[in-house]
Amino acid sequence: MARRGNLFILAAPSGAGKSSLISALLKDQPADMQVSVSTTTRAMRPGEVDGKHYHFVGVDEFKALIEQAAFFEYAEVFGNYYGTSKITIEQTLDQGIDVFLDIDWQGARQVKAQIPDAVGIYILPPSRAELEQRLRSRGQDSDEVIADRMAQAISEMSHFNEFDYVIVNAEFDTALTELQTIVHSQRNRLARQVEAHGGMLEDLLAQ
Ligand code: GDP
Ligand code: ADP
Ligand code: 5GP
Repeated sequence: MARRGNLFILAAPSGAGKSSLISALLKDQPADMQVSVSTTTRAMRPGEVDGKHYHFVGVDEFKALIEQAAFFEYAEVFGNYYGTSKITIEQTLDQGIDVFLDIDWQGARQVKAQIPDAVGIYILPPSRAELEQRLRSRGQDSDEVIADRMAQAISEMSHFNEFDYVIVNAEFDTALTELQTIVHSQRNRLARQVEAHGGMLEDLLAQ
């Protein structure tokens, strides 16, 4: 049987750098890694592309998808719904491709409950002041939205200890190297290597 992909869950308060880290990791479009495109009811930001950043839907459509059990997990975050498509995740993992989920802590819990060997990674900003600065510098959200996200950041961050790894995103390249190291460590775990190199191991160990 082909090797199943690894599932990585990245969570962080808004503005900590999750999206930037995932896009840097996937920059050269490696064939063995994919980011999961979530479905959301939030309004599209300038520059976002439907189907690339998110699948943007209305609340009624989202609720219909919940009814159809189309989501692997979903949660309400900042007053909007966000969800991960079940079929896309299953099909991608079955192809042996590693999948990265950029989701909130509530979704992370639901995923861990279903796939205990999913790898949870929490991204922290180096300080509150830096987090606020990054939300501002992104230039995408109004003052009101930024104040709301800063208030939410503290309760979101309080869940960091439910994850397997923690990365402090102070210097971007260092954080990216740390993320790459976690991915490689997971791929080199015994059970994964046995799946990936079954034939080679049989040859090496034949009497
Ligand atoms: P950003 O994090 O500031 O870029 O803002 P977004 O609107 O893209 O995301 C807001 C929050 O929703 C973040 O905490 C995301 O991790 C979370 N989120 C995005 N997609 C999903 C999803 O499919 N499921 C869950 N549970 N959370 C999601
Ligand atoms: P998230 O997806 O967690 O909401 P983003 O990836 O959109 O966060 O990052 C928020 C902002 O902070 C972006 O403008 C990004 O360029 C910037 N940023 C990310 N990481 C760093 C870093 N290590 N140092 C400085 N700025 C950063
Ligand atoms: P807190 O930071 O206080 O733990 O949680 C922040 C928010 O998440 C609160 O609105 C709280 O009710 C909610 N919450 C806490 N635990 C859970 C949980 O296990 N599942 C879900 N869906 N929400 C939770």
